[in-house]
Amino acid sequence: MFSDKDISHFANVETPFYHYDLTLLQKTLSTCADAAKLYNFHVHYAMKANFNPRVLEKIKAVGFGADCVSGGEVKKAIEVGFAKDQIVFAGVGKSDKEINSALDNDIFCFNVESIQELEVINELAANKNKKARVAIRINPNVDAHTHHNITTGLDENKFGINSWDLPSCAETLKKSANLEFIGIHFHIGSQITNLEVYKNLCVRVNEFAQWFEERGFIVKVLNVGGGLGIDYHNPEQQVPDFSAYFKIFSDFLEIKASQEVHFELGRALVGQCASLISKVLYIKNGKKKNFVVLDAGMTELMRPALYQAYHKIENLTRGTETSMKYDIVGPICESTDCFGKEVEQPETFRGDLYAIRSAGAYGEVMASKYNLRDEIRSVYSDQI
Ligand SMILES: *Cc1c(COP(=O)(O)O)cnc(C)c1O
Repeated sequence: MFSDKDISHFANVETPFYHYDLTLLQKTLSTCADAAKLYNFHVHYAMKANFNPRVLEKIKAVGFGADCVSGGEVKKAIEVGFAKDQIVFAGVGKSDKEINSALDNDIFCFNVESIQELEVINELAANKNKKARVAIRINPNVDAHTHHNITTGLDENKFGINSWDLPSCAETLKKSANLEFIGIHFHIGSQITNLEVYKNLCVRVNEFAQWFEERGFIVKVLNVGGGLGIDYHNPEQQVPDFSAYFKIFSDFLEIKASQEVHFELGRALVGQCASLISKVLYIKNGKKKNFVVLDAGMTELMRPALYQAYHKIENLTRGTETSMKYDIVGPICESTDCFGKEVEQPETFRGDLYAIRSAGAYGEVMASKYNLRDEIRSVYSDQI
């Protein structure tokens, strides 16, 4: 929750901006690191969730690696000081330039998403007289039971290698002298709140690991991806239950003594640590609807426009006693530029401060210049 001191500080900062609660971030990271340590699990932070420099600094300090999905992210991870042997590179469309640069930097591993990509990495590594470490990203056809726009592990999704292509994948691996197979990789979707889904994933991981071992491969790394969700309805709940999450994998994965289990968490680590703070520009009372027009829009936080995402919205100026229903919209010239419909709020006036909560993941990183908007600003809790 925001203190009176926070709110009076906010009143003197140009809106809109992201407010980062670095204390909460630290608590979340430590809780996750401790829970992972219990099982000797390795965590790579999925950088695409948030690459704000202050956030990355804290994540690096806790000892996590970096999970990157572009050459730019690999470059950034190295720049901010993540150990190169803790950087993994996933993505369905790695360009030659990105692969070459990752090879030059001797990153830990490519998570490979197609057979053709295996061939290309093998060829580019051969040109450099190197061996590229690769994990095979398998599409396990496990339903993540989340919004369809953020489901990635079903047959119809573009991600990973499908099970029926694994025999030809194994053949390619065997004949590729410049590839070193290290393990298998999965990432079935995001904002997963039903832990049963992960039990189903574990069953599939065990089957695929066995499949590779039966064919003479040593599966050293079981990378089960990320996707753990947060409670958008209760931003005060804050730290996800990492213990319960890791326990599922400890209970249901068949882990050999020589194997490492890797995770790629994004949202769960950073989702609750930021809010988008915005000022009310106008109130429009229509015939059917009342609108609160904010000075922040989809250019600052795209999730509601992109996948109908829910964020809790609070009027920081008037408290919590609700008496009105508003559609809370932004200034952008798009009808989807709406943070919430028929949201119960206190009666609101021009100049009130609003907080859009749980905006730490896939928020600031998706900010765009559409409508030639100003670059988004950030305020950190240790500056107040
Ligand atoms: C996005 C992504 C993640 C992280 O997902 P979260 O839902 O933020 O935990 C992990 N692995 C890969 C390959 C990804 O693309």
